[in-house]
Amino acid sequence: MKKVLILGGGFAGVECAIFLKKEGIKDVTLISNRDYFYIYPTSIWIPTGEIGFDDIKIPLKDLAKVHDFELIIDDVEKIVSKENRVFTKNGEYEYEYLVVAIGSGKVKHKGSENFLSICSEPEESLKIKEKIDELIKKGGGKIAMGFGGNPKDPSNVRGGPAFEVLFNVHNKLKKLGIRDNFELTFFAPMAEPGARMGKQALKMMDLFFSKLNIKTHFGKKIKEFVEDGIIFEDDSKLKSDFTMFIPAGDGHKVFENSDLPLNEANLVKINDYCEVVHNFDESKETEEGVYKVFAIGDSAAIEGPDWRAKQGHIAEVMARNVAFNIAQIEKGSEARKGYEEHLNILCVMDSGDGAAFVYRNHKGGKMIPMPIIGHWLKKGWGWYCKNSKLGKIPRIPGM
Ligand SMILES: Cc1cc2nc3c(=O)[nH]c(=O)nc-3n(C[C@H](O)[C@H](O)[C@H](O)COP(=O)(O)OP(=O)(O)OC[C@H]3O[C@@H](n4cnc5c(N)ncnc54)[C@H](O)[C@@H]3O)c2cc1C
Repeated sequence: MKKVLILGGGFAGVECAIFLKKEGIKDVTLISNRDYFYIYPTSIWIPTGEIGFDDIKIPLKDLAKVHDFELIIDDVEKIVSKENRVFTKNGEYEYEYLVVAIGSGKVKHKGSENFLSICSEPEESLKIKEKIDELIKKGGGKIAMGFGGNPKDPSNVRGGPAFEVLFNVHNKLKKLGIRDNFELTFFAPMAEPGARMGKQALKMMDLFFSKLNIKTHFGKKIKEFVEDGIIFEDDSKLKSDFTMFIPAGDGHKVFENSDLPLNEANLVKINDYCEVVHNFDESKETEEGVYKVFAIGDSAAIEGPDWRAKQGHIAEVMARNVAFNIAQIEKGSEARKGYEEHLNILCVMDSGDGAAFVYRNHKGGKMIPMPIIGHWLKKGWGWYCKNSKLGKIPRIPGM
């Protein structure tokens, strides 16, 4: 039996493994279907060739060695928490504590074969690059980029990377001196995409779009994606030679085969301590009132204000809290840490030649332009992320 079994090697899973070891838990095992940790936030530069695919991968075996956790590369297929058991493609594992961190699934769209997403499997970023390079070679074309919603759980909407990739494409075309040969359009089904960043941010995004001559197409539901564009609910069409679209997140397909409690969007229901609270068999409840199963990061249904969003730094807060909470349970202590008080939106939104610092909390939101330096700040964060996780430089507390 594994003491702590972590499923997933992304921001949430890796941070949890690192901090469980820091808390002194000896037997920590992480299962991931990829053999590398992928720094998603910096993947926005892959389509424009500013960064290489391998630059933002960290082999999980290196992380396992540095932080002394056990690593298994395998595909999780089913979780039976009633029996403390996880089934994978190649085996079956029992555990005492389970941490679910396998990320999310994606809302399905008709014609999804006609777009690529920067938030999908990491390799898709290279296909986006190929498509953009093809159009550059052709000398011109129409490019549409956007993101979709999930009315069942708005916290799973991810629009930032769509803004970032489009701004970076604009910048690249400008540098090549061929921007005027391209029509760039940003589209989204909601009337005010990005509204959760706050009113000031919305105004600034509008300014960005008009300054950069990027067309916008908002407020119409998407009916389907076709080879040469996007068809909307009123059968109007936005023509596009290449479409990049980020569907909103929903429950991972593994949850369909599992016995975890799910919300309407099929994400795992948790309490403030990230404990998965089961009600189906009260006789088996532990002293803590749960089955010692935790869900963190994009896998979890987070509660909180309307503007709440799934982000890497929230995934890491949840992971550190769970490491702390498991250590407390082990010590017989009642102390617990919750994630809800830490909810905020924090992002450096890159534009290729600068960035905007976006911050939102319960008091409101702000967006501060950071020409030039913002771009290098984000680049610096990517370097820090890689090297601090590998133990080559010290961690800045909370980062
Ligand atoms: C392009 C992009 C840009 C972003 N920019 C920012 C940003 O600027 N700031 C910010 O805070 N957040 C940003 N985010 C969000 C952030 O990256 C996510 O919130 C974060 O990755 C969530 O971490 P996670 O560990 O929960 O999930 P993931 O990162 O999705 O990790 C899931 C892990 O589980 C593994 N896995 C999946 N299925 C299985 C299976 N069946 N069996 C075994 N293993 C499995 C995967 O291989 C992966 O290792 C961005 C996201 C994207 C995609």
